[in-house]
Amino acid sequence: MTTVALRDVTKIFSDGTVAVDALSLDVADGEFMVLLGPSGCGKSTVLRIVAGLEDPSVGAVLLDGELANDMPPRDRGIAMVFQDFALYPHMTVGDNIAFPLRLAGVEQDRRGERVSDVAGALGIGEVLARRPGQLSGGQRQRVAMGRAIVRRPGLFLMDEPLSNLDSGLRAELRAEISGLVRELGVSTIYVTHDQAEALTMADRVAIMRKGVLQDVGTPTQVYGRPATLYVAAFLGSPRMNLLEASVYAQLDRHVALDLGAQTLYLPWDDIRSRVVAHYHGERIVVGIRAESLTPVPPDQPGDVLRGRIRYLEHHGHESLAYLDIGATAVPVDEMGAGPVEPANGGAGRGRLGQFVQRLSGRPAPAP
Ligand code: ATP
Repeated sequence: MTTVALRDVTKIFSDGTVAVDALSLDVADGEFMVLLGPSGCGKSTVLRIVAGLEDPSVGAVLLDGELANDMPPRDRGIAMVFQDFALYPHMTVGDNIAFPLRLAGVEQDRRGERVSDVAGALGIGEVLARRPGQLSGGQRQRVAMGRAIVRRPGLFLMDEPLSNLDSGLRAELRAEISGLVRELGVSTIYVTHDQAEALTMADRVAIMRKGVLQDVGTPTQVYGRPATLYVAAFLGSPRMNLLEASVYAQLDRHVALDLGAQTLYLPWDDIRSRVVAHYHGERIVVGIRAESLTPVPPDQPGDVLRGRIRYLEHHGHESLAYLDIGATAVPVDEMGAGPVEPANGGAGRGRLGQFVQRLSGRPAPAP
């Protein structure tokens, strides 16, 4: 399958818009690469450059190691799937799927075989005689997928293929598409602004902002060890807590994190201390995911983060407490049985007080 290498690719449109800025990115053989970022960050432009529908202003596009800047789109062995499905409304489903084969001059019997194989794999064998207007959104997207895979391309380019579908169907199809693509082993670049889609489908995720690549890695890497503050704040819901702190390391004793309203003393034998100690005397930003915080009882030894609960949010399987120390959220599923009310009623306030107590713990004496 096709490998892709982008080298310092920049795209400046005629009106001066820099849509892609010095992007270098590799997609390995059979890899499922997701381009993720907010609207307008340049994702679709990257896809169009790889497809040959747009020329880079600067930089190189290599397909299987060969410079492809001047290669016509039809010679690139690429199939594209779009958000609006782009099916021909006057053709049957079968003819839509067969269309790329017809263009490639494949004879009719062979076309019929391939179409029924693909339709069977996608579960749309029953609707081959219908026209796109007679299908559900999910079926239309399967037809679009069918048309993309029927010619067995070396590379799939998918531009927000699920964004016109409702959320239940999106979740179903994202598993289906990533399963199918992996079964076929076709290298894929998949564009989305939906982080759940990116994190669940990708082998690796490339995160873009204003045309610039911010981070690239496996979903676990970019979520757990984001390369930039932007990525840290962009990925995850609730967003990562980002707390500004000054670091004071006292060798062999402790590392103090001065958060302004409170100071945390991390014991020296804590692995985090060694990491943070490196920034002695500097201002840093500490990133903590909500799920890494645990509510503790008041008599919990050691240092704890303390904050007043501003409001609670229930999500069924867990609850989140938003505290006044930045945008901090804490999973509160362990905070005891019974419903917890928001803080604007007498009873609610009473309950919240109790939870603040349990969360806050006792400040540890400074060593
Ligand atoms: P979306 O998710 O909304 O599709 P995107 O991340 O795919 O956004 P692009 O469509 O690649 O972003 O656009 C990147 C930037 O380039 C945007 O500022 C856009 O307005 C601009 N742009 C795209 N096409 C052109 C064009 N033909 N001429 C001028 N500017 C363009």
